[in-house]
Amino acid sequence: MIDSNAKVLLIYTGGTIGMVENAETGAWEPFNFSHLRLNMPEIKRLKFTVETYLFDPPIDSSDMSLSIWQQMVRVIEDHYNVYDGFVILHGTDTMAYTASVLSLMLVNLTKPVILTGSQLPVGKLRTDGKENLITALEIAADKDAAGRPIVPELCIYMQNLLMRGNRTIKINANNFSAFTSPNYPYLGEAGLNIQYNNQFILKPDYGKPVYFNYAMDPHVVILKLFPGISEAAVRAHLEIPGLKGVVLETYGTGNSPIYPWFTELLHNAIEREIVIVNVTQCLYGGVEMHRYENGQRLEKLGVVSGYDVTTEAALAKLMILFGEGKTPAEVNRLMPVSLRGELTVRE
Ligand code: ASP
Repeated sequence: MIDSNAKVLLIYTGGTIGMVENAETGAWEPFNFSHLRLNMPEIKRLKFTVETYLFDPPIDSSDMSLSIWQQMVRVIEDHYNVYDGFVILHGTDTMAYTASVLSLMLVNLTKPVILTGSQLPVGKLRTDGKENLITALEIAADKDAAGRPIVPELCIYMQNLLMRGNRTIKINANNFSAFTSPNYPYLGEAGLNIQYNNQFILKPDYGKPVYFNYAMDPHVVILKLFPGISEAAVRAHLEIPGLKGVVLETYGTGNSPIYPWFTELLHNAIEREIVIVNVTQCLYGGVEMHRYENGQRLEKLGVVSGYDVTTEAALAKLMILFGEGKTPAEVNRLMPVSLRGELTVRE
């Protein structure tokens, strides 16, 4: 039910949705918000209030950084009590990373924060941006019969699908259906109406105060395995000065080679209290290290399971937990635990 008194803050960070073509180079470049507004008169026809906050200059999301994530959270914190929901316009390239990070920076969230963007700028005739934006705004304003937000969590809405943000992956560089949530059901689907899958939506404790976590530690890395990976390449990753956490992208149910040099490098890293999280390279399913000898070897070394977490969410979790000053032992304990519904534990 759309509440006509609802107020939604639309935060424009950049991305294709608001870009225009550079006449000389032909490349799409971030452009100012007045251009977006000009191409979106539909916003005025919504039955609730939409106010805007602009990042200046807007960015291509490939330029995303820790400090820009902190700025986004600052904007939400500064406006949290005034608005019923938030929509963040964001480039699709790093949207799944932002969704994962923000889901952990916003603690005890009780309002919708919906990320959306588009694959074609709003100025283009066939743009996907208009539908994405209008529906995201409606979702942010939607309330249940008790006047509570229907989706009080951090989501991505793209091409008719509403997804838990920290479960998403960008899967297509060209199609409008650019995202999926491989290991968690969609929270909703927009057709003639928006159908919410209420049983999968987080139920916050409204008695707990929201708070905003700004601390992040950049001493993390992703190490993706491939057959033939060299000792030098693995060493270069694991011996980065100051390194605290590694997302180890393994094969299948969490398997890696068991060459002596590989095992030794991992063993040495774990001895140095580096947290190593096992995440599968597969899109669907998750890590079950006990299944094969090669997986068991990792478990014995002290590699922790990320279960069905995405690489993006595992990385975000390491950044945030270390940022909060947690010890390696605490981070090891929390990585396989669901904090915001980002993973499902399966034994
Ligand atoms: N490069 C753009 C960005 O992520 C792509 C997009 O918006 O979809 O900002």
